[in-house]
Amino acid sequence: MSSAFMEYGGMLDRIRREIGRRRAFSARMMILSSVITVPGFSAVCGSVMLDMRRSAETLAKQAMENLAASVDADIERNIEIFDQSLHAAASNLLLPEVSQVDAKVRNLILFDQSMTAGHFGPLRVFDANGDLKLDASTLTPAKLNRADAPFFTVHRDRPDVGLYVGPPARKGDSYSIVLSRRVTGADGSFQGVVAGTIRLSYFDELFGRLRLAPHDMIAVIAHDGTLIFRKPFVPELIGKDMKTTAGGRQMFTTKRGAFTGHGTMDGVERLFVWSDSTRPLVVLVATSWDDVLGTWRRQAMWIAGVVLALAAFVAAFTIFFIREIDRRAEAEHRLEELATTDPLTGLTNRRKFDAAIDHEWRRAQRNGTSVALLMIDADHFKAYNDEFGHQAGDQVLIGIAVCIADTVHRAGDCAARFGGEEFAVLLPGLGSEEALAMAETIRQKIAQWSDIERTATVSIGIASMTPLPPQHWADLVEAADRALYAAKDAGRDRCVVAGLRDVSMVA
Ligand code: GH3
Ligand code: MG
Ligand code: MG
Repeated sequence: MSSAFMEYGGMLDRIRREIGRRRAFSARMMILSSVITVPGFSAVCGSVMLDMRRSAETLAKQAMENLAASVDADIERNIEIFDQSLHAAASNLLLPEVSQVDAKVRNLILFDQSMTAGHFGPLRVFDANGDLKLDASTLTPAKLNRADAPFFTVHRDRPDVGLYVGPPARKGDSYSIVLSRRVTGADGSFQGVVAGTIRLSYFDELFGRLRLAPHDMIAVIAHDGTLIFRKPFVPELIGKDMKTTAGGRQMFTTKRGAFTGHGTMDGVERLFVWSDSTRPLVVLVATSWDDVLGTWRRQAMWIAGVVLALAAFVAAFTIFFIREIDRRAEAEHRLEELATTDPLTGLTNRRKFDAAIDHEWRRAQRNGTSVALLMIDADHFKAYNDEFGHQAGDQVLIGIAVCIADTVHRAGDCAARFGGEEFAVLLPGLGSEEALAMAETIRQKIAQWSDIERTATVSIGIASMTPLPPQHWADLVEAADRALYAAKDAGRDRCVVAGLRDVSMVA
């Protein structure tokens, strides 16, 4: 046999193994990149979506804070002006000069007429007994005693109240709140109360200028928690204590802030933002979370849909790719089997045998172990063919192969059809004695199996070597071959161990 042919077979095997390794590596890389890319891409999209949500929340909060602050500033300015009128009336009232002028001039001095228009009611002065003494709208005040009204008693009982803001009171179809200040004598004594009213139509008009979404709400609340006014207007809620609500409690602890709560009337989840100037009213604005996050939700759904579709596509592609690799590997395995199997006998073919012996030879060289080889040849096979026909000859070859395969089981052993009616059995690790025993078993099995009329026998050459550096496995084949010829020469149907005398006698 040519050594160039053997080298060529070994090289083909190495190239095939290298291609297989590279393919497995690229398949693993492909799967790994899909496994990393999809969650990585999803994480980036998720973080972008969260950022978008946070900025939508921040923007909405800022817009509402600005709205609450500007409304609060408007209310503060008007109440301050109104309070200045109350203050001026309360302090000027006791001036001796004022008591000396006539009623008309006194009213002009005491009351700022500009405030008694529009949404603001006329200022009134009550004496220490609660009797109405002066009325900015008339020179002849009505007979009226309000000694039991809260806006009066609060100042009578406590000198330090300052500006008092009363709860909303209904008069006919309109609501108003009373604002009052104490009239204090030079000696600190209680001299009465100056009071005025602000109609809630002021807030209605103020809020009417704002463009509110259907679920938006804006309210004015007194510091004691009383709801003064709200838009949308719900009469049942006016005057209610807002401190009892979950968000209401925190509202009066800091000057501005926000909380999430559910609407008292419709249960809609809203973002509430309040602004509280130094004045006695708090402005609370609310907008529904659905409105705040509507655009973000649509965008998030769209992005999530695209990411999901991409992930599904990558997953489907990866599964398809893996299956394709498996199918290819299987097909290659089948091809490999076909390419390395002898079609008639099902044993390993010559090419695979050469690779196997090369591999085992090197291993034995490394480990310092022995390799045994049996060369098996059918006796007088030409004559057999001539007598019984080629088909019958093929059946004998199959029978011999079955007997060999039935004997050779160990991993690493390799039974092959070497060519024509010749077989080779590679037995790594076996010495001559053990190899001879195996050969003898094979020979006897074949002899027992073959037909009495159509006897088929084999001759077997056995060689076992522990490889030394300059040697090649071709030397082992040659030794076994020589032993086979010796067996033929000695009369066939026997086993001969290379280097020993004809041992057919042991058979
Ligand atoms: P010996 O005992 O010396 O080995 O004699 P032999 O006739 O077996 O040896 P020889 O080399 O002269 O003949 C081998 C024969 O094997 C020739 C060929 O017809 C036959 N043969 C080779 N391959 C096949 C095969 O695949 N099928 C069949 N039926 N016969 C084959
Ligand atoms: Mg022969
Ligand atoms: Mg032959």
